[in-house]
Amino acid sequence: MRLLRISFVALILSSGPSVANPQLIGDLQTLTSPTFLGRESGSLEPNQSAQYLYTRLSESGYKPQIQSFDFQAGWSASQRGHNVLAVLPCQKNPCLPSIIITAHYDHLGGIESRYYPGANDNASGVAALLFLADRLKQQQTNRDIVFLATDAEEKGLFGSHYYTSNVPLENIGLNINLDMLAVNKKRTLYVLSSRHSGYEQIVQQLAPRNIRFRYTESAKRLGKWTDTPRTDWLRASDHYPFFKQGIPFLYIGMGEDEKHHSVKDTFKNVDVDAYQDAVYAVSELIDSIVAPQVDT
Ligand SMILES: [Zn+2]
Repeated sequence: MRLLRISFVALILSSGPSVANPQLIGDLQTLTSPTFLGRESGSLEPNQSAQYLYTRLSESGYKPQIQSFDFQAGWSASQRGHNVLAVLPCQKNPCLPSIIITAHYDHLGGIESRYYPGANDNASGVAALLFLADRLKQQQTNRDIVFLATDAEEKGLFGSHYYTSNVPLENIGLNINLDMLAVNKKRTLYVLSSRHSGYEQIVQQLAPRNIRFRYTESAKRLGKWTDTPRTDWLRASDHYPFFKQGIPFLYIGMGEDEKHHSVKDTFKNVDVDAYQDAVYAVSELIDSIVAPQVDT
């Protein structure tokens, strides 16, 4: 472990910034812009954020679907949410159980003069989802891969709950949940896995450019690593409804900073170089999972 750490430091010193990816950074900037007013869930029709995701997935060659649902948060009246999803179908035979990649696009809303941009939470995950959807489209996959941008996560994981309660679950092999990929000054991506998922070795073997992975199956340990001991990381994001249904999950994120759930979680607060490297690292991890040699 110590040796690994030394070689990682050496890697950082020897590596310059990655080539800029204007689409990825553009998506992050757009989703945090005043036009989207903090992406609050609860509108009767799909809001501008949902429409933007629909358009972007269409541009990548998908036929996206909007999955609308009703939810009730606390004592408030019933509200409407809208998941946006696209499926990359299995193109080989036999097909392995599917992977559902989730990232919630909703955040806390606001008004033009004061809104919550939610750059880290979770425009960062959604822009990554769009990047992955676009990149994986070029590949032949041996399983269905579903890209699911969930709504109403902030109000109680309602989009993910709805999805896991309304699609057949028997053929789902894994949920990969992306939430908060953009603020960690240590350039560390934390992976919280359900117990005995079998992915530890895959994660530990990766040596992505300028990013370190840390893997755990303990939500408490993740709390320690991210200095958020009071956060229940098992229940804190959209992987939890999958977990409750007995589906293995990998939650991937960088944790929170002091600007979490404040109007200061802005695009400007993001180190775009580190963010890009984090997304490329996630992409590398997903490649390792869907690579045929891993499945045999
Ligand atoms: Zn979040």
